[in-house]
Amino acid sequence: MLRIAEIFGPTIQGEGAVIGQPTVFVRAGGCDYRCSWCDSLHAVDSEYRHTWAKMSAADVMTEVERLSGGIPLTVSLSGGNPAIQDFAELIALGRAKGYEFACETQGSVARSWFADLAPLILSPKPPSSGETVDWDAFDACIQASGQADVVMKIVVFDDTDYVWAKDVAARFPDLPLYLQPGNHTPPPPDAEDAQIDMDGIMRRYEWLIDKTLADQWYTVKILPQLHVLVWGNKRGV
Ligand code: SF4
Repeated sequence: MLRIAEIFGPTIQGEGAVIGQPTVFVRAGGCDYRCSWCDSLHAVDSEYRHTWAKMSAADVMTEVERLSGGIPLTVSLSGGNPAIQDFAELIALGRAKGYEFACETQGSVARSWFADLAPLILSPKPPSSGETVDWDAFDACIQASGQADVVMKIVVFDDTDYVWAKDVAARFPDLPLYLQPGNHTPPPPDAEDAQIDMDGIMRRYEWLIDKTLADQWYTVKILPQLHVLVWGNKRGV
């Protein structure tokens, strides 16, 4: 059985390589990290475990099909860290019906089903998260993907994160990299529609663009969180 914090959509993917793409989200419950600025604590903290549903892969697929009207689209596996659970059966069920699967994970646990994703988004967490990346595990994730369709996304909150992101880019020069300014006002887990500091978000986006271009770092893409610009910190959109 899978631990599922929420399934919602169709909406658009708000971040990274597939930004703007219509998708249904399957948010897994549980994470092996505790990032200081996590914006998905309702899918991380064991305090919310009682809100997570135990579902079979077939049940999850039934809900995805209901939400998408039975029309295949890209399913986004997120969390939490979806890689601490086994989504192989769900992916096989969905792909047999024409659905594609994208998955974002910090790269701490490698799974054989990474090879069936389009794409695998590896999001190593920078120093401001308070977590430390296990690069051997991260390398194993890249290997598991078969390097077919894998990209990196790094959230940047400050200068230290930015320098760290440049080091990571140098370490993995073949992986497309998406930079994203951090959202300093993540929603409280119980908030349905928390207020956000939109001016601050745009200022940090501009700061990141200016910094990257001043560095003549032209091989990255710099993106905001599109869903935050449209819906703020509202959940389930
Ligand atoms: Fe939250 Fe992601 Fe960090 Fe897990 S890895 S604590 S879901 S930000």
